Amino acid sequence: MPSRSALFSQRSLILALLLLLACGFLATSLISYYASRSAIRDGIINTELPLTSDTVYSEIQKDLIRPVLIASMMAQDTFLRDWVLAGEQDTGRITRYLREVMGKQATFTSFFVSDRSLTYYQARGVLKHVVPGTWRDAWYFRLRDAKEPYEINVDLDMANHDSLTVFINYQVLDYQQRFIGAAGVGLSVDAVVKLIDTYQRRYQRSVFFTDAHGKVLLTGSDGGPHGLRVGQALHDNTELGGLLGQSPVPGEGSHEYTDSQGHSHFLNVRQLPELDWYLLVDKRETGALDRIRHSLYLNLAICAAISLVVLSLLHGMLKRHQASTEALATLDSLTGLPNRRSFDLLAAQALQAAQRDRTALVALLIDLDHFKTLNDTHGHLAGDEVLRQFAQVLQGSLRQSDILCRWGGEEFIVLLRATEGRQAIEVAEKIRRRTEQQAFSFEAQALHLTTSIGLSALQQGDTLHTLLSRADRALYCAKQAGRNRVCTESAGTDDE
Ligand code: GH3
Ligand code: MG
Ligand code: MG
Repeated sequence: MPSRSALFSQRSLILALLLLLACGFLATSLISYYASRSAIRDGIINTELPLTSDTVYSEIQKDLIRPVLIASMMAQDTFLRDWVLAGEQDTGRITRYLREVMGKQATFTSFFVSDRSLTYYQARGVLKHVVPGTWRDAWYFRLRDAKEPYEINVDLDMANHDSLTVFINYQVLDYQQRFIGAAGVGLSVDAVVKLIDTYQRRYQRSVFFTDAHGKVLLTGSDGGPHGLRVGQALHDNTELGGLLGQSPVPGEGSHEYTDSQGHSHFLNVRQLPELDWYLLVDKRETGALDRIRHSLYLNLAICAAISLVVLSLLHGMLKRHQASTEALATLDSLTGLPNRRSFDLLAAQALQAAQRDRTALVALLIDLDHFKTLNDTHGHLAGDEVLRQFAQVLQGSLRQSDILCRWGGEEFIVLLRATEGRQAIEVAEKIRRRTEQQAFSFEAQALHLTTSIGLSALQQGDTLHTLLSRADRALYCAKQAGRNRVCTESAGTDDE
């Protein structure tokens, strides 16, 4: 049985190793997880989102800023101004002019509204009259009173089946800088929306625009993130509202926030100064981070499996090691017989049982004759081999219940349980005879030797010590009597 302290130290060794492996694996897995996570986050914040916003910005510049120049050119046009100042004669001339602008510059629509007559001209003729106080024409009266020379707004175009259009409305001033009307162009946002859709699909991010008041102007065809719709204010959105603070639009640059479902988002905000718009690119932290999270779990699972295999191997090794050290501790390493230590335990039990049950017990003390000479003649290794073979002779001559041990050197002790005197002498004789007849082999040589045996029977009041002392005396007698014989304690010598 392994001792409690051995078991305890074995358990604590395994536990310590388990802890060490778990901490090591956990630390390396987590470090690599957080390192790749922060690399991915950095990539998103510092590269991906700004790059998207740069690309969208340059597309927008192409699509939106050029029309601003066209509208400004129209506002400066002397023909237009002269025609207005001359009393808006001949509508054909202005519509031809507007058609010309539209055709040459490939805009969606072009228009002029006269302040004197409040007539709305477009390429196909007079569209209508603008009416103060109506929501459709509010832009005109706003522009008339504005300090800025132009305004950009996303509106429905009545001339084009109310399709969503970006209008660039420019103030037209006469030569004394008095307001005489508004000219400009409109362009369909379909192209921009398509572009946004492409980006959203390709990179799984939301692209949308707001004006300086945080009102959403343009989104992809499915709307903005978190259900944002055109016309809605960022402030009204619960998800983005938290980012805003006092300002209507989050500050320029990168932001991070968590939506109501617990997903992390990255948001990049960029101002488009030419339009006084804001471009917002929102990305939910999925995809790449999910993949590295999965690889973290896989890593941990592999580490756990490796730890289990290592620990079970170690456990097995320790058990084997323990078994062998235990065996070493109780068995004699040369002959494999119980050693003196284990004999003491076995003998004490046997003695107790015999005294309790009043059964006979006989001790045989066995010593090989002239063993020193054998060692000296054939070498120590030969002596060892003979001892091993002699142990087998002893084992073969005894019952399972008898106790046998190597007492030390070339001396052995046998305790014969429940064996009376005569019977015991027969067993001792058998051993003596077999030894005498045995050809012990060493390196193809046959070695012969004899043994002397002292015998003592358990008496009332005996201890192991007194029993063995008598056996020792009997052995001495056997040696004295010429060796190769069995002597009993009382009878002195007993011939073969
Ligand atoms: P006797 O008992 O007949 O009086 O003579 P002996 O030569 O056997 O005497 P003694 O008991 O003095 O010598 C025992 C020898 O056994 C001495 C020692 O070197 C040898 N011996 C003891 N243990 C071992 C062992 O494990 N291997 C070998 N090869 N020799 C051993
Ligand atoms: Mg001896
Ligand atoms: Mg001897």
